[in-house]
Amino acid sequence: MLVIPHPDDAEGGVGGTVAKWVAEGTEVVFVLCTNGDKGTSDPEMTTEKLGAIREKEQAAAAECLGVKEVIYLRYGDGELDDTAKFRGELVRAIRKHRPDVVFCTDPFRQTFYLHRDHRISGQVTLDAVFPYARDFLHYNEHIQEGLETHKVGDILMWGTEHPDTFIDITDTIDNKINALKKHASQVAGSGRDVDRFVKVNAQNQGQMANMPYAEGFKRIRFRT
Ligand SMILES: [Zn+2]
Repeated sequence: MLVIPHPDDAEGGVGGTVAKWVAEGTEVVFVLCTNGDKGTSDPEMTTEKLGAIREKEQAAAAECLGVKEVIYLRYGDGELDDTAKFRGELVRAIRKHRPDVVFCTDPFRQTFYLHRDHRISGQVTLDAVFPYARDFLHYNEHIQEGLETHKVGDILMWGTEHPDTFIDITDTIDNKINALKKHASQVAGSGRDVDRFVKVNAQNQGQMANMPYAEGFKRIRFRT
Protein backbone atom coordinates (compact mmCIF):
# COMPACT_ATOMS: atom_id res chain seq x y z
CA MET A 1 0.00 0.00 0.00
CA LEU A 2 1.23 3.45 -0.86
CA VAL A 3 -0.03 6.53 0.98
CA ILE A 4 0.47 9.34 -1.52
CA PRO A 5 0.28 13.07 -0.75
CA HIS A 6 -0.37 14.32 -4.31
CA PRO A 7 -0.97 12.80 -7.75
CA ASP A 8 2.47 12.03 -9.32
CA ASP A 9 4.34 11.60 -6.01
CA ALA A 10 3.97 7.80 -6.17
CA GLU A 11 5.35 7.46 -9.69
CA GLY A 12 8.31 9.72 -8.95
CA GLY A 13 9.22 8.00 -5.67
CA VAL A 14 8.13 4.39 -5.96
CA GLY A 15 7.02 3.82 -9.60
CA GLY A 16 9.84 1.42 -10.49
CA THR A 17 9.29 -0.67 -7.37
CA VAL A 18 5.52 -0.79 -7.93
CA ALA A 19 5.94 -2.01 -11.53
CA LYS A 20 8.51 -4.58 -10.41
CA TRP A 21 6.42 -5.95 -7.54
CA VAL A 22 3.24 -6.05 -9.65
CA ALA A 23 5.15 -8.07 -12.29
CA GLU A 24 6.15 -10.47 -9.50
CA GLY A 25 2.50 -10.93 -8.49
CA THR A 26 2.16 -8.44 -5.63
CA GLU A 27 -1.15 -6.62 -5.27
CA VAL A 28 -0.65 -2.87 -4.89
CA VAL A 29 -3.20 -0.36 -3.59
CA PHE A 30 -2.75 3.42 -3.77
CA VAL A 31 -4.29 5.74 -1.17
CA LEU A 32 -4.22 9.22 -2.71
CA CYS A 33 -4.65 11.81 0.05
CA THR A 34 -5.16 15.06 -1.91
CA ASN A 35 -6.42 15.81 -5.38
CA GLY A 36 -3.47 18.08 -6.22
CA ASP A 37 -5.82 20.92 -7.10
CA LYS A 38 -3.30 23.74 -6.52
CA GLY A 39 -0.45 22.39 -8.66
CA THR A 40 -0.48 24.87 -11.53
CA SER A 41 0.76 28.30 -12.58
CA ASP A 42 -1.88 28.59 -15.34
CA PRO A 43 -4.00 31.69 -14.50
CA GLU A 44 -6.99 30.23 -16.38
CA MET A 45 -7.06 27.07 -14.28
CA THR A 46 -9.49 26.49 -11.38
CA THR A 47 -9.23 24.11 -8.45
CA GLU A 48 -12.33 22.22 -9.64
CA LYS A 49 -10.94 21.68 -13.13
CA LEU A 50 -7.44 20.81 -11.95
CA GLY A 51 -8.62 18.38 -9.26
CA ALA A 52 -10.63 16.46 -11.88
CA ILE A 53 -7.75 16.46 -14.37
CA ARG A 54 -5.26 15.22 -11.81
CA GLU A 55 -7.54 12.45 -10.59
CA LYS A 56 -7.83 11.17 -14.16
CA GLU A 57 -4.06 11.40 -14.61
CA GLN A 58 -3.54 9.42 -11.40
CA ALA A 59 -5.97 6.73 -12.55
CA ALA A 60 -4.12 6.42 -15.87
CA ALA A 61 -0.71 6.26 -14.17
CA ALA A 62 -1.92 3.62 -11.70
CA GLU A 63 -3.34 1.54 -14.55
CA CYS A 64 -0.04 1.87 -16.40
CA LEU A 65 1.76 0.41 -13.35
CA GLY A 66 -0.79 -2.39 -12.86
CA VAL A 67 -2.12 -1.09 -9.54
CA LYS A 68 -5.18 -2.98 -8.30
CA GLU A 69 -7.09 -0.09 -6.76
CA VAL A 70 -6.78 3.63 -6.06
CA ILE A 71 -8.55 5.00 -2.98
CA TYR A 72 -9.19 8.73 -3.40
CA LEU A 73 -9.48 10.62 -0.10
CA ARG A 74 -9.94 13.92 -2.03
CA TYR A 75 -8.52 16.42 0.45
CA GLY A 76 -7.59 19.73 -1.15
CA ASP A 77 -3.94 20.23 -2.05
CA GLY A 78 -2.22 21.80 0.96
CA GLU A 79 -5.15 21.04 3.24
CA LEU A 80 -4.01 17.90 5.05
CA ASP A 81 -4.08 18.01 8.82
CA ASP A 82 -3.27 15.47 11.48
CA THR A 83 -6.92 14.84 12.36
CA ALA A 84 -8.75 11.86 13.82
CA LYS A 85 -10.76 11.71 10.56
CA PHE A 86 -7.73 11.49 8.24
CA ARG A 87 -5.94 9.03 10.56
CA GLY A 88 -9.10 6.92 10.70
CA GLU A 89 -9.33 6.82 6.90
CA LEU A 90 -5.78 5.45 6.72
CA VAL A 91 -6.47 2.96 9.54
CA ARG A 92 -9.59 1.77 7.71
CA ALA A 93 -7.66 1.30 4.44
CA ILE A 94 -4.94 -0.66 6.29
CA ARG A 95 -7.47 -2.87 8.08
CA LYS A 96 -9.38 -3.48 4.86
CA HIS A 97 -6.47 -4.20 2.49
CA ARG A 98 -4.08 -5.69 5.09
CA PRO A 99 -0.79 -4.68 3.47
CA ASP A 100 2.50 -6.42 4.29
CA VAL A 101 4.36 -3.24 3.37
CA VAL A 102 3.22 0.39 3.58
CA PHE A 103 5.07 3.13 1.69
CA CYS A 104 4.87 6.78 2.72
CA THR A 105 6.94 9.93 2.40
CA ASP A 106 9.64 10.47 5.04
CA PRO A 107 8.19 13.19 7.30
CA PHE A 108 11.50 13.85 9.04
CA ARG A 109 13.58 15.37 6.22
CA GLN A 110 15.67 18.26 7.39
CA THR A 111 17.92 19.46 4.58
CA PHE A 112 15.18 21.14 2.59
CA TYR A 113 11.75 22.38 3.41
CA LEU A 114 9.31 19.56 3.03
CA HIS A 115 5.87 20.18 1.54
CA ARG A 116 3.33 20.26 4.36
CA ASP A 117 1.23 17.49 2.78
CA HIS A 118 4.31 15.24 2.52
CA ARG A 119 5.20 15.90 6.14
CA ILE A 120 1.68 15.35 7.45
CA SER A 121 0.74 12.34 5.31
CA GLY A 122 4.03 10.65 6.25
CA GLN A 123 3.57 11.27 9.93
CA VAL A 124 -0.10 10.27 10.02
CA THR A 125 0.72 7.07 8.09
CA LEU A 126 3.33 6.08 10.68
CA ASP A 127 0.77 6.64 13.43
CA ALA A 128 -2.00 4.82 11.54
CA VAL A 129 0.21 1.74 11.13
CA PHE A 130 1.34 1.79 14.74
CA PRO A 131 -0.48 1.66 17.04
CA TYR A 132 -3.89 2.59 15.62
CA ALA A 133 -4.44 -0.19 13.01
CA ARG A 134 -3.00 -2.76 15.40
CA ASP A 135 -5.12 -2.15 18.50
CA PHE A 136 -8.79 -2.97 18.38
CA LEU A 137 -9.99 -0.27 20.77
CA HIS A 138 -8.73 2.40 18.36
CA TYR A 139 -11.42 3.17 15.78
CA ASN A 140 -13.41 0.36 17.30
CA GLU A 141 -16.28 1.14 14.92
CA HIS A 142 -14.22 -0.59 12.19
CA ILE A 143 -14.20 -3.76 14.28
CA GLN A 144 -17.95 -3.46 14.86
CA GLU A 145 -18.34 -3.28 11.07
CA GLY A 146 -16.46 -6.55 10.64
CA LEU A 147 -12.93 -5.36 9.83
CA GLU A 148 -10.07 -6.83 11.84
CA THR A 149 -6.96 -5.25 13.33
CA HIS A 150 -3.83 -5.53 11.22
CA LYS A 151 -0.09 -5.60 11.85
CA VAL A 152 1.93 -4.14 8.98
CA GLY A 153 5.32 -5.80 8.46
CA ASP A 154 7.40 -2.88 7.18
CA ILE A 155 7.13 0.78 6.36
CA LEU A 156 9.33 2.02 3.53
CA MET A 157 9.67 5.79 3.39
CA TRP A 158 10.55 7.47 0.13
CA GLY A 159 12.02 10.93 -0.34
CA THR A 160 14.37 10.18 2.53
CA GLU A 161 17.80 11.64 3.23
CA HIS A 162 18.95 8.39 4.81
CA PRO A 163 18.00 5.46 2.57
CA ASP A 164 18.98 2.07 3.98
CA THR A 165 17.00 -0.14 1.61
CA PHE A 166 17.45 -0.12 -2.17
CA ILE A 167 15.30 -1.80 -4.77
CA ASP A 168 16.78 -2.48 -8.19
CA ILE A 169 14.45 -0.94 -10.79
CA THR A 170 16.64 -1.49 -13.84
CA ASP A 171 13.99 -3.69 -15.49
CA THR A 172 11.14 -1.28 -14.79
CA ILE A 173 12.70 2.17 -15.20
CA ASP A 174 10.79 2.61 -18.48
CA ASN A 175 7.49 1.75 -16.76
CA LYS A 176 8.27 4.38 -14.14
CA ILE A 177 8.95 7.01 -16.80
CA ASN A 178 5.82 6.08 -18.77
CA ALA A 179 3.66 6.26 -15.64
CA LEU A 180 5.12 9.62 -14.66
CA LYS A 181 4.31 10.99 -18.10
CA LYS A 182 0.61 10.22 -17.51
CA HIS A 183 0.66 13.24 -15.21
CA ALA A 184 0.63 15.51 -18.25
CA SER A 185 -0.56 18.62 -16.35
CA GLN A 186 2.63 18.46 -14.29
CA VAL A 187 5.09 17.17 -16.86
CA ALA A 188 4.11 19.20 -19.93
CA GLY A 189 5.51 22.70 -19.86
CA SER A 190 7.74 21.97 -16.88
CA GLY A 191 10.74 22.29 -19.18
CA ARG A 192 12.08 19.10 -17.66
CA ASP A 193 13.49 16.22 -19.65
CA VAL A 194 11.58 13.55 -17.73
CA ASP A 195 13.53 10.59 -19.11
CA ARG A 196 16.83 12.13 -18.15
CA PHE A 197 15.66 13.44 -14.79
CA VAL A 198 14.30 10.04 -13.72
CA LYS A 199 17.34 8.13 -14.97
CA VAL A 200 19.90 10.41 -13.32
CA ASN A 201 17.99 10.21 -10.06
CA ALA A 202 17.73 6.41 -10.22
CA GLN A 203 21.44 6.18 -11.10
CA ASN A 204 22.36 8.29 -8.08
CA GLN A 205 20.30 6.06 -5.81
CA GLY A 206 21.73 2.97 -7.53
CA GLN A 207 25.31 4.08 -6.92
CA MET A 208 24.75 3.70 -3.19
CA ALA A 209 23.86 0.02 -3.65
CA ASN A 210 25.80 -1.12 -6.72
CA MET A 211 22.73 -1.22 -8.94
CA PRO A 212 22.32 0.45 -12.35
CA TYR A 213 18.99 2.06 -11.40
CA ALA A 214 17.41 1.97 -7.95
CA GLU A 215 14.84 3.51 -5.65
CA GLY A 216 16.02 4.09 -2.09
CA PHE A 217 13.93 3.96 1.09
CA LYS A 218 14.28 4.20 4.82
CA ARG A 219 12.84 1.09 6.39
CA ILE A 220 10.99 0.66 9.67
CA ARG A 221 10.48 -2.98 10.65
CA PHE A 222 7.59 -4.06 12.82
CA ARG A 223 8.12 -7.79 12.44
CA THR A 224 11.44 -9.50 12.91
ZN1 LIG B 1 3.73 16.02 -3.58
